[in-house]
Amino acid sequence: MTPDEFRRWGAAAVEWVARYLEDVESYPVLSPVEPGWVRAQLPPHPPQHTEPFDAVLADLDRVVLPAITHWQSPNFFAYFPGNSSGPSVLGDLVAAGLGVQGMLWATSPACTELESHVVDWLVELLGLPDAFRTTGPGGGVIQHSGSDSNLCAILAARDRAGAPPEIGRMRAYTSTHAHSSVEKGMRIAGFAADQLRLVGVDGSFAMRPDALEAAVSADAAAGLVPFLVAATVGTTSSTAIDPVPAIADIAGRHGAWLHVDAALAGSAGVVPELRPVVNAGLDRVDSWCFDPHKWLFTNFDCSVLYVRDRAPLIQSLSVLPEYLRNAASESGAVIDYRDWHVPLGRRFRALKLWFVIRHYGAEGLAHHLRRHVELAHEFAGWVEASDAYEMAAPVPLNLVCFRHVGGDTETKRVLDAINESGRAYLTSTRLDDRLTIRASIGQTRTERRHTEALWDQLRALASVDRAHDG
Ligand code: PLP
Repeated sequence: MTPDEFRRWGAAAVEWVARYLEDVESYPVLSPVEPGWVRAQLPPHPPQHTEPFDAVLADLDRVVLPAITHWQSPNFFAYFPGNSSGPSVLGDLVAAGLGVQGMLWATSPACTELESHVVDWLVELLGLPDAFRTTGPGGGVIQHSGSDSNLCAILAARDRAGAPPEIGRMRAYTSTHAHSSVEKGMRIAGFAADQLRLVGVDGSFAMRPDALEAAVSADAAAGLVPFLVAATVGTTSSTAIDPVPAIADIAGRHGAWLHVDAALAGSAGVVPELRPVVNAGLDRVDSWCFDPHKWLFTNFDCSVLYVRDRAPLIQSLSVLPEYLRNAASESGAVIDYRDWHVPLGRRFRALKLWFVIRHYGAEGLAHHLRRHVELAHEFAGWVEASDAYEMAAPVPLNLVCFRHVGGDTETKRVLDAINESGRAYLTSTRLDDRLTIRASIGQTRTERRHTEALWDQLRALASVDRAHDG
């Protein structure tokens, strides 16, 4: 593709994305296609000869769009959001254009230094402890996903605690509501299933410190090594917030690494009045992560892992073959982020964060997140005031968990009806062993008219049911 062709088709591709984002609200949020539909639209063999680029763009409309679940729709209330924004898309475009592989400082100093700078900006934007700044012994690194951040924390904690055969005696602790990536990370790190203890939760689904203390003390008394406590701020099922200060007391007493997974909730720190909710006790944790690709308007992939002390992380993940040696690394004056995560290669992901932060500013980010939280509280108020639905969990942030008062069958009927309508997309979980709908309010473009339309739909479905019962 010549530079002039790139210019022409690049403009057409940007126009396609702009039109998509303009129209996104008009598509059924959850893709209705059957398994195999996409492949059935495609030729079985790759092209022998060049194809015109406009034919490729046309196939986006024909083949791709019908099979998209629209994460960028303001009516996307499922899972946690996977947000994007104009500046973020443009940041990713520039990153692709530069096409650098930033494994070492030397392979593109801008890739490393912009990343260090932006993650240090986030320390200030989110009100995080100064110990997380890369200017000291700690620091932050952009990882591919929240799962990777959790895995790296597990690896660093394991290797700080000892080496084989000691590993067989190590035990980690997390709550029954922690994300599955903690269990997966433990497995990847070579631990057996019983080396991860699942600690019980209280009535708000937050880890019980007394249950943690009992589990840790019993293991320590049995000669085992409690090496890691993985707390969650904003659990996936219900955004429950584990009591980090009390957990830090216990981890500290037993010499265990304390990691906090704040995948979604960490972004809430941009709202100063929410910092006491999401940042309590962070001055005492060893590592903490959050995902700007969830609730900070930054395209997937972008998770940020912070450590108070980078040495154990680097010790776990650094291998130095001859072909990567270079003068800058050997000077000790630079960061080589390849030593801070699992893969060697790395994309220039700091660009999209940099674009986002400069576009919105601290005020803009706080404005949008504050609004999502307000909308969630208003929605919770509608649920509380209704006869047909009841709340299933507290709402510390932007997730509303509720169910139909008629039980699981009714809850499922409502959930399926909403999702089949294409007008909104909701997912579910189980809380207190009852089917629970999660309305996750955090999409970049979600406004009051969207939450109101969702509630109108829920109300209509509930009243149909009551008429039917009567
Ligand atoms: N931790 C929590 C609390 C989550 O809710 C999630 C995903 O929803 C993850 C970790 C994993 O995030 P990712 O999809 O980026 O791996």
